[in-house]
Amino acid sequence: MDNQQLQQAVEKRRTFAIISHPDAGKTTITEQMLLFGGVIRQAGTVKAKKSGNFATSDWMEIEKKRGISVTSSVMQFDFEGKRVNILDTPGHEDFSEDTYRTLMAVDAAVMVIDSAKGIEPQTKKLFKVVKKRGIPIFTFMNKLDRDGREPLDLIAELEELLDIEGVAMNWPIGMGKGLQGLYNRRQQRVELYRPADPDQRFLPLDPDSGDLIGDQPLKEESVFQQALADVELLDEAGNQFDLAKVQQGQQTPVYFGSALTNFGVETFLKSFLSMAPAPSEHLLQDGSELSATDEDFSGFVFKIQANMNPAHRDRIAFVRICSGEFTKGMNVTLARTGKVLRLNNATEFMSDEREQVSSAVAGDIVGLYDTGNFQIGDSIFGGKRTIEFEKLPQFTPELFMEVRAKNVMKQKSFHKGMQQLVQEGAVQLYKTYTTDEYILGAVGQLQFEVFQYRMLHEYNSEVTMKPIGSRIARWIDSEQLDQKMSSNRNLLVKDLAGQPLFLFENRFAENWFRDKYPDVKLTAKL
Ligand code: GDP
Repeated sequence: MDNQQLQQAVEKRRTFAIISHPDAGKTTITEQMLLFGGVIRQAGTVKAKKSGNFATSDWMEIEKKRGISVTSSVMQFDFEGKRVNILDTPGHEDFSEDTYRTLMAVDAAVMVIDSAKGIEPQTKKLFKVVKKRGIPIFTFMNKLDRDGREPLDLIAELEELLDIEGVAMNWPIGMGKGLQGLYNRRQQRVELYRPADPDQRFLPLDPDSGDLIGDQPLKEESVFQQALADVELLDEAGNQFDLAKVQQGQQTPVYFGSALTNFGVETFLKSFLSMAPAPSEHLLQDGSELSATDEDFSGFVFKIQANMNPAHRDRIAFVRICSGEFTKGMNVTLARTGKVLRLNNATEFMSDEREQVSSAVAGDIVGLYDTGNFQIGDSIFGGKRTIEFEKLPQFTPELFMEVRAKNVMKQKSFHKGMQQLVQEGAVQLYKTYTTDEYILGAVGQLQFEVFQYRMLHEYNSEVTMKPIGSRIARWIDSEQLDQKMSSNRNLLVKDLAGQPLFLFENRFAENWFRDKYPDVKLTAKL
C-alpha cells in the first residue's frame, strides 16, 4: 500500500461502540446494522448467541453457551463506501473493565436508550467514560413502536442527567400504536412508519412552512400537529445543531426509531456515519501525536480474552491499529519490553466468521494469538521508531472479594497466577493495610469468575473467594492518613503501588467520613 492508498483506506474507516443499559435494544440495532451491511441475511443471529442459561462457575461453559466470542465482540462490515467496525461493550454480568477499555479503542459512540425508560444506570456509567474521551456520541431513542415518555422529556434528560446537549435530528409523529412516522425537517421529509406502498416511504415537506406538501390526510392528524408544534418549540428554545460541538462530544444528535421493526435505523446509520470521524491521531506517552496515516504500523492492546480454545492455553490480545498497515507475518516490537514478535497468527473480524487478516489499517481491530507476551495497554510498532501510546486509564473497581489459596501448600502457584493475571489487567489487586490479606477489585462480577476459572485451569491453583460486596473506593494521601480513621464501614487497604485507600460501605459512610474529616482529600480514579 503506498501512502495515498493508505490515506484512502483510513478515510473509509468508522470505528465505534454501542453503549446502552441491558435490554434497551443494543443487540437488535446491531443486527439491523449488520443487515444493512449485508453481513447477515436474517435478523436473530446475534441474538441467538446471547441467550441461554449458564453455570457461572465454569467460564468456558459460559463462553460456549452465551457465545461470547471474539467474533461477536468486533463486527466489521462495509456500508456505502465506508468500512465500519462495531466494538461490543457487553452488558449484564459480562460487564467488566474490558467494557470500559473498549471505549478507549473507538472513535465514536452510539448510545441506545429505551424511550420508555430514559437514561438508565449502565448507560450513565459508560457515558461518563466516553464523555471524558471527548469523542462524538450519537443517540438513538429506541422502541418508538411502544408507548414511551414524552420526546421533549427524553431530550431534556440528556442535559439533566448526562450534562450533554441533545439536538433532535428527527421527531416522532405519535408513538406506540399511534406511531405514524418521523418528521425530519433537515431532510425535508416525513418518513412513514407503515407506508401503504413500501417504495413511497417518504413524503416531502414544504421547505418554507415545514408542512406536508399537498393533500395528505396525515396533515390533519393531531399527532402530526403535535410533532409540528414540538419541532417549532425546539427550533426556538432548543439547542441548535453545531457540528463542532458534536465532534467534541459536547452535543449529541438524537434520532428516534424502533430497532425491532427496523424503523429509522437506516436513516440513523446513514446520518451518523456521515458525521462520525475517520481515525485521526493518537496521543503518545511523550505528549506528541501520531497520525493515523503515518506509514509505520502501530497499535495498542485494549483487551485480552483468555482461553478461547480449551485445548490450548491461548489468549487473544485485541489490538486497535492506530497507524500504518498491518500485514500477516510482520515483525513488531513490543514497546514495554523491546521484544520483537513475529505476528503470524492474527484474526480480523469480518461478519461472524473468523478470517485470517490480509491487511488492516488504523481504526481496524486485529486479534493476536498470545502466549503470554501481552498486557493490557501494551503498544506495538512495526518501524524503527519507538511508538508508545499514552497509558490506558484505570477504572475504579466497585466490587470486592477476599481471596485465598484453598490449599496452603500450593502458595507458589497461587502467587504466580495472581501476579500474572493482575499484571495482565484481568482484575485489580489490593491488600489489607496492615495484615496484607489479598483483596480483588473488579467492575463486574464476571471478572471474578473468570479469575477463579483461570487460576484453576492455567495455574492449577484452587482459590476461595469471600465477597465483600459493593464498595466505593477512595484514595487518600498517605500524609493525611491516620489508621484510626478506618472501621468496618470504611475498610483501609492499599493498592499495588502501596497507596492507601478506603473501601466505603456506601455513599452514607463516605459522606459521614467527609463530614468528620473535612480537611482530608479523597479521590476516585476514572
Ligand atoms: P440489549 O440487551 O440492549 O442487547 O437488548 P436487545 O436487543 O436484546 O433487546 C431487548 C428486548 O427488547 C428484546 O426482547 C427485543 O426484542 C426488544 N426490543 C428491541 N428493540 C425494540 C423496539 O424497537 N421495540 C420493541 N417493542 N421492542 C424492542
